[in-house]
Amino acid sequence: MDDFLQKLKEQADIVEVVAGYVALRRTGKNYVGLCPFHQEKTPSFTVSPENNIFYCFGCQAGGDALTFLMKVESITFPESVALLAEKLGLPLPERLGGGERKERKEFFWALYEEATAFYERMLEAPEGKAARDYLARRGLDAPTWRRFRLGFAPEGNRLATQLSAQAPLPQLAQLGLASERGGGSDLFRNRLIFPIMDLRGRPIAFGGRALDEQSQPKYLNSGATALFEKGRSLYALHLARRTATERRALVVVEGYMDAISAHQHGFANTVASLGTSLTGDQAHLLSRFTQRVYLAYDIDAAGINATLRALDLLRPQGIEVRVASMAGYKDPDSLLRAQGAEAFSRALIDYLPGEEFIYRQIAQRHNWQVEEEKARAIREILAQLIARLPSALEKEKFLKRLAVESGWGEEVLVNELNRLGAPPPTRGGRRRGAVSLEDLRRAERTLPVLEVRLLHLILKQPTLLAESGLDSLRQDDNSPQQDSSRQGVLASVLEELGLPKMPLEDFQNPICRSLLAACQEAFHEGSWPPTFSPEDPAAPLAARLLIEPLNVADIHQEARLCLERLNLEKISRQLHRLKDEISILEKSGPSEPLRLKLQQYQDLCRLKEKGAPTMDGRNRA
Ligand SMILES: [Zn+2]
Repeated sequence: MDDFLQKLKEQADIVEVVAGYVALRRTGKNYVGLCPFHQEKTPSFTVSPENNIFYCFGCQAGGDALTFLMKVESITFPESVALLAEKLGLPLPERLGGGERKERKEFFWALYEEATAFYERMLEAPEGKAARDYLARRGLDAPTWRRFRLGFAPEGNRLATQLSAQAPLPQLAQLGLASERGGGSDLFRNRLIFPIMDLRGRPIAFGGRALDEQSQPKYLNSGATALFEKGRSLYALHLARRTATERRALVVVEGYMDAISAHQHGFANTVASLGTSLTGDQAHLLSRFTQRVYLAYDIDAAGINATLRALDLLRPQGIEVRVASMAGYKDPDSLLRAQGAEAFSRALIDYLPGEEFIYRQIAQRHNWQVEEEKARAIREILAQLIARLPSALEKEKFLKRLAVESGWGEEVLVNELNRLGAPPPTRGGRRRGAVSLEDLRRAERTLPVLEVRLLHLILKQPTLLAESGLDSLRQDDNSPQQDSSRQGVLASVLEELGLPKMPLEDFQNPICRSLLAACQEAFHEGSWPPTFSPEDPAAPLAARLLIEPLNVADIHQEARLCLERLNLEKISRQLHRLKDEISILEKSGPSEPLRLKLQQYQDLCRLKEKGAPTMDGRNRA
């Protein structure tokens, strides 16, 4: 592992890191507190200083200090590394974003901060009256616009003049803080200013709305700079992220005003995508904060297309998309101003599932009375909706409905669907690993008892290792003798449990299989216990098993029992499969393949009866 990461992990005290966010109370070896990742009244969130990990028995979140920071701050792994380094007072190496690069960025942030403060002052000054009147007309109160740090850009070049004392003009121009025209002039004039913040609430760009209706364009935005790129951030996300975690959903709207208005009415989990449609980067960003998104875009042709495109980007990220029903209102802001919070609540409660929205939109675009157009509608529904549905059950549900509504036979539709082949790759969305998120969630819900028990026995080995004297061997001593004796002790203890020979494919659950693979890898590399990247779906399970006490008299006997029962389960699965194959073969009368299958079946039955041998070849005593 990376030296710096290694050092960071060693020096981080999980109790100290967590205590910055959660009130912890000691119970025996561990600490407990109320989980920051789900709502609870009795603490199921546990921190183990011994293993330097945390685990929540309520929502199954778990991992090390870096994982905790990633989750609680909703930041990426590199951001979490930087934050932890900052907390520990370790200077971040240049390649991880430290050193000069960081200092330069901090200077840029300071300039943006100064500009934001200037605009804020102007909004409260006499010059800002027109802007304040506009905000009042739009129903926004002072606490709200102060929270969003709205501002006013006056006529003239006052900001450029003020900032020229801090940085040379070309640099200010590059940062989008001034124009080089006329020896330095302001970019925003007589405009209401919406600062765009990064995740930590630092201003990184501005949007400006013209205050007199003749000025064009109506909205003027900062261009791309070293701090900001359009389409990569979401407006108000720094304010919405906490509430989004609590409510387990984000509301996505189109414009600044929609977002601010929603926040003022209590929908503090609202963000704006700024622009006519969501980008792949924004979809990915959303997936870091929530698994459920309510889309509340404008109800016009552009808004509907933006909704369809957003669905296209969000669904491959494993996000459940719900489309708000804002009957009769053009956007969330006008709905909120006319009808208030309750009406917007209703618009969210009466949502259309994303899939339903797509179905209806495609169906409405064609005239079903004309045979040719109907055929086109059907093919579009098959290609754009049904072919992309992840579950067979959902596919069938929509096929049945399409059959009823089109009058085409279900078989014909299935043929058409198969003719379409594999669904086209989705644009923009990044996939995480080979296993789909849906599969993972199913795997989490249905962790098999036996597989988990066996992994628990394996992970609780440190107790046994300590008894066999492994702890006295220093981990950082890499001399061949020490290494081989460490390996030797590890091998004897874990081999005894049958770890190296446990066949991965016999583990049915993907999460358990991944954890077993990590254990085997750590065993073969002699670097026990296994470590995990924060994205590894097995990390929470490993954390749980390391924390959960294990009460068994004889760990080896228990492991053998588990293996034996796993093997019996495997035989039962094989018998089940054989039975199906035999019943198919029987239909065409006696044959050699049938005879072989029957023979296999009998052999397996006998094996099952007398107690199957364990995976390492030993028979039950
Ligand atoms: Zn929890």
